[in-house]
Amino acid sequence: MIYLDNAASTALLPEVVKVVNKYFCEVYANPSGAHALSIEANKAVEISAKIFAKYLGAEPQQFVFTSGATEGNNMVILQPQWLSAKQPLHFITSKIEHPSVLNCFRHLEKLGHRVTYLGVDRNGILSESEMLTCLEKDTALVSLIYANNEIGTINDIASLANSLRSNGFHGKIHTDATQAIGKIAINLEQLNVDYLTASAHKLHAPKGVGLLYLRDSKIEPLLIGGGQQNGLRSGTLNSAGIAGFAKALELLTKDKSKTDAKYQEFAEILKREIDVDRLNAKIIAEDSPRLSNIYAIAFKAIKSEVLLNALSARGIMVSSGSACSSKKKTVSHVLEAIDLEEDYQDGVIRISFSCLTTRAEVIEFCQAINELVPKVHI
Ligand code: PMP
Repeated sequence: MIYLDNAASTALLPEVVKVVNKYFCEVYANPSGAHALSIEANKAVEISAKIFAKYLGAEPQQFVFTSGATEGNNMVILQPQWLSAKQPLHFITSKIEHPSVLNCFRHLEKLGHRVTYLGVDRNGILSESEMLTCLEKDTALVSLIYANNEIGTINDIASLANSLRSNGFHGKIHTDATQAIGKIAINLEQLNVDYLTASAHKLHAPKGVGLLYLRDSKIEPLLIGGGQQNGLRSGTLNSAGIAGFAKALELLTKDKSKTDAKYQEFAEILKREIDVDRLNAKIIAEDSPRLSNIYAIAFKAIKSEVLLNALSARGIMVSSGSACSSKKKTVSHVLEAIDLEEDYQDGVIRISFSCLTTRAEVIEFCQAINELVPKVHI
C-alpha cells in the first residue's frame, strides 16, 4: 500500500507507539489520582507540556489538552460570553477555514452575530489590507487558518497578527495550526496570537488528542465536570495520547531539516514525472508560500472520485479535497474561494506526504497518474 493521505491522518511512529503503550499498559492510572502510579501518569502530562513549551516557544501552563482540533476550535469560537451576549458582536474569519471553524461561525451567525468571511487570492493567500478594512469597533475575534488542509498554502499569521495589533485591534486572535504544527517552525512568542489549536493525529500521534494554546490562560470552559486542567477542560486526561503527541512533535522537530529535504525532492519528482501537458493537469497554488507535504492536483474533465477509486484499487491512497467533506458532492469551499476554473473543479485530488513516505512511492504514484488519468477521462 502507498499511503499519500497524511493530511487526513498519519501512522504512529514506532517511538510514539512505545510511549503510548507505556502509558496505556504500564502507567495507566488516572493522572488526577493521589497514589504513586497516578503521580507518574501526571508527570508524563507535565513533561509533555514542557516539551510543547520548548518546541513552540511558550510556557507549559499555557497549554490545555483537548480531544483534537475540532474541540479546541469550538472552545475558542463558541465562548460562553459570546453565545450569551446581549448585543450582537462582529467576528472575522476566512473562506478557507476547516469546517470545524466555519461551522462554529455559522452558529454564531444564527445567534445574531455578524461574521466577515475574508476571501483569498488564487493562491489561497489572505490580504492584510482587506482584513484591516473589515475590522469593526466590536470585532471580538479574528480566526485565521495557518496552513490550509486542502491545498497546503501558508498564511503569514505573525505578520497578520502584528498588523492587527499595530492597527489598534484589542479583540482576540486565533489560528488553527492543525496542518502547520510539526511541519513549519512555530514560535508562539513571536506569533502574537491569543489562541492556537492543533491535533495529534496529523503528526504521527494518536487520534482524539489535541492542544489549545492560551496566551493569558483565560477562557470559559466548554466542558464542565471534574475540574481537571484548572477547570479549563474537565475530563480525565488522555495521558498516553498526550505523551505520544509530545514525543511526535519532538521527533518531527529534530528530523525537520532531513524531512524538508526529502519533501523538496518529492516536489521535484512530481514536477518532473507527472505529464501535466498531456494530462491537462496543474498543481494548485504551486508557487505560493506552502507546506511541502500537501499538494492538490487538478485535472481537467476528470471526476476526482473515479480517479481516487482507480488509485485505491491499485493500493494508492489519496483524497479528493479534504476527507471531512469528501462524502458531499458539492465543490469544495476552498476551491471555490481560490476561483479554480470550473472545468478543473470536479477533478482535484489531494496527496500528502509524511516522513514515512519514500521516493519510490512518489515515483509509483506519478506513474499511476500518467497511466490512469487518460483512462478515467470523461
Ligand atoms: N483544522 C484543520 C486545518 C484540519 O485539517 C483538521 C483535520 N482535518 C481539523 C481542524 C480537525 O481536527 P481533529 O480531527 O483533531 O478534530
